[in-house]
Amino acid sequence: MQGVRIDKGTGQENRTGMGLGGSCVCPDCGYKAPHRRGAPCYEQKCPKCGKPLMREG
Ligand SMILES: [Zn+2]
Repeated sequence: MQGVRIDKGTGQENRTGMGLGGSCVCPDCGYKAPHRRGAPCYEQKCPKCGKPLMREG
């Protein structure tokens, strides 16, 4: 049976979406974006400041 899918890239964060309280926040202006699986917050940039976001939660 399939159903559990292991992400071999990270070995973690393979749960289904939201639920982990994961969001990324701009340290400068407080802009928030939902954390995307497999994409570290610092790879996302604030659309306002252009600064890398930080993990929140
Ligand atoms: Zn910002």
